[in-house]
Amino acid sequence: MLALFAAALALVAAASRPVQAEDPPQDDTAALRVVRVLDGRPAAPFQFLSDRLRLTPTAEQPDPDALLLELPSGQTTAARTYREDGIQYLDLVSLATALGMRLDWDPSVWGFLLRPRHAARGAQEIALLPEGVFDGLGGPVSQAQLTTVEERGPEAAGVPYPVAWHTPSGQESATPPQAPRPEGTRPGKPEEEASQVLGLRVLTDGGMPRVQVEAAAPVSHRSILLANPARLVIDLAPARLEQSLVELPADQDVVKSVRASQFEPGVVRVVLDLTHPTGYRVARTSDSRVIQAELDEHVSGYALWRENDRFYVGLDATGKVPLQVRPLREPDRLVVDMQGATVTRELSERPQVEGVRSVRLSQFQPHVARLVVEFESQSGAALPKAAVAWSPEGGGPVEISEAMQLVWLNHVEQLRTRLSGSWLYLAVEAEDPMTLETLQLSGPQRLVFDIPGAVLPRDLAQKEWSFTLDGRDGRQDEQVTVRAGQFSAGRTRLVVESRDPLEYQAYRLEGQNRMVIGIASPRVGGRLVVLDPGHGGLDRGAGDTDLSEKLVNLDIASRLGEALKRRGFEIAMTRSDDTFIPLWERAALANALSADLFVSIHSNAAVDGAAEGIETYYLPKQPNNQILAQAVQRELVRTLRRKDRGVKSNNFWVLRDAEVPAILVEVSFITNPQEKELLGRETYRKEAAEAVATGIVQYFARLDGGPVPASASAAGADLWNRVMHESREAEDAKATDASI
Ligand SMILES: [Zn+2]
Repeated sequence: MLALFAAALALVAAASRPVQAEDPPQDDTAALRVVRVLDGRPAAPFQFLSDRLRLTPTAEQPDPDALLLELPSGQTTAARTYREDGIQYLDLVSLATALGMRLDWDPSVWGFLLRPRHAARGAQEIALLPEGVFDGLGGPVSQAQLTTVEERGPEAAGVPYPVAWHTPSGQESATPPQAPRPEGTRPGKPEEEASQVLGLRVLTDGGMPRVQVEAAAPVSHRSILLANPARLVIDLAPARLEQSLVELPADQDVVKSVRASQFEPGVVRVVLDLTHPTGYRVARTSDSRVIQAELDEHVSGYALWRENDRFYVGLDATGKVPLQVRPLREPDRLVVDMQGATVTRELSERPQVEGVRSVRLSQFQPHVARLVVEFESQSGAALPKAAVAWSPEGGGPVEISEAMQLVWLNHVEQLRTRLSGSWLYLAVEAEDPMTLETLQLSGPQRLVFDIPGAVLPRDLAQKEWSFTLDGRDGRQDEQVTVRAGQFSAGRTRLVVESRDPLEYQAYRLEGQNRMVIGIASPRVGGRLVVLDPGHGGLDRGAGDTDLSEKLVNLDIASRLGEALKRRGFEIAMTRSDDTFIPLWERAALANALSADLFVSIHSNAAVDGAAEGIETYYLPKQPNNQILAQAVQRELVRTLRRKDRGVKSNNFWVLRDAEVPAILVEVSFITNPQEKELLGRETYRKEAAEAVATGIVQYFARLDGGPVPASASAAGADLWNRVMHESREAEDAKATDASI
């Protein structure tokens, strides 16, 4: 285990490396860097001073696989090395061998010890002290930063804490400081002279997570990060605490809990239980009595996707941090530096994303996480022209170029369903505020709810539910299927599929990270549609003796009437047989009845026998008419699979007097031989009628549904509670069943 652990480290000799465009300017002295080797590739290099190791790469380096080093004695030795991206890496185990030393992890100093191979424990040794992030001693190292390299002798052995105390006056001290006392007096008991710790504060709103400890007077502090389990220990001295304290942050992404207790006389220990070892800074605030630990946000992953010709880079982090985004050429790369961030899972991979060659996520420096996306040569055009800086204070989206955008990924945390009679409710909770994009699709009927930038948890990523909604207005029950899925790497999609169009109401709750979507069949009961079969009697319309328009129109309108009645509508017809009705009487009927809709059915005609397809006209004076026309046109085109001639506004005589929403449908061209043949078929006319009916239901679904105004947020909150309560009860019931 130890060997594995040590082998995961390597040294980087940066003395001869060219300046990297990715890196900030560096002192060009012989600096050594320590990195972990990840999948055979270097990642997360860290710098420390090579002069403490007293190794100098020789001027001549003839072998690319070995690094020649001059030892303090003047002798030369060689260690295994390799290069990548212009950086030379040196294997740490190989270095130890070259020096005739052994390398061991020593938990008592929380570091690596380089010491003569046969020397006893505690002999002269070089300690490499990481102050970094570990997955755990038994497991792989996720990152190791060597902050200190020092000679250690017998007198230094066995020091349990390789960290110093920081006194209020800015000094460092190896031993716990004593309280100041008047000259000539004898030291009292530590607990009597210590400052009282007054309280703990955990701040997780805005900025990095912070923990503050307040004492009655300024105290000294020391801190160390421990792994397995991950925790940050902060000792305060001289300090006392009457009663142990525990604080649970509201947001436990980084800090799970904070506890404080009297560790030993005069020393109060504050322990931050962390979700993962995390970069941190402990310092005194402007109020010298307050010691503050500031922790990095965690970065655990990324997502890449394309949408509408735009390339999206999603960052998966526990909080938004300042960004530096830079383009690099040859090869084309996007470099994203996240300030105040610790990478919890380093990645180096070739994602299955078109145009992307590789992605690396690593700890570039302490507190700086770096994502590098390397593009195929022809895909770099989307890169920004210049560097872009972004900070959370400024807010807003991270626009980096016309063709590229950075997104902070949101996480869906809960998705619950509740069936209540004719209503189905979907309750969604995410980590951050959500936006909702809605689509109405047909063939089959679907309501699509998209949450851009959101990622579903694994257990919800391909989930499906089935429900039976009570039919409204005496209609049949509606079978509904709900599917949750990841439409793209950065887009969560909920699809509600049904036989007939459904309406929805979306409630966004205060804070915008909770949402309730209610889904039901549109309420059509009592709604009156006036159907107008065009022409009649003496007025044959278009067509010829073997198939006249007036009869085709009447047949389709009658079938449409039946289809709408089945769906709960009330119907009136301007004519139900082959009689002549003047144009002005037709819309007048709809007005007189205060109808909800007026739909005139016609078959098209043109001198050119080749003219074909479907078109729907609407009266421009009412804003909803176009929506109605589009819904009907879309359904007709989809069902009849004829040419889509689009929706058109027109002040046709038959429409222009209508005071209710009014459209005129030209089902097909009776003057086109092929379409005439189709219009002559009963199945075609029946399909046309069903399609218009579906379009009308969609129109009402759209009219009634949609986003609910913010004023209804109380109703939304009430719905939320009911959905949550019921689904929890259902789970409890399930649990009870299981236990029986
Ligand atoms: Zn006509």
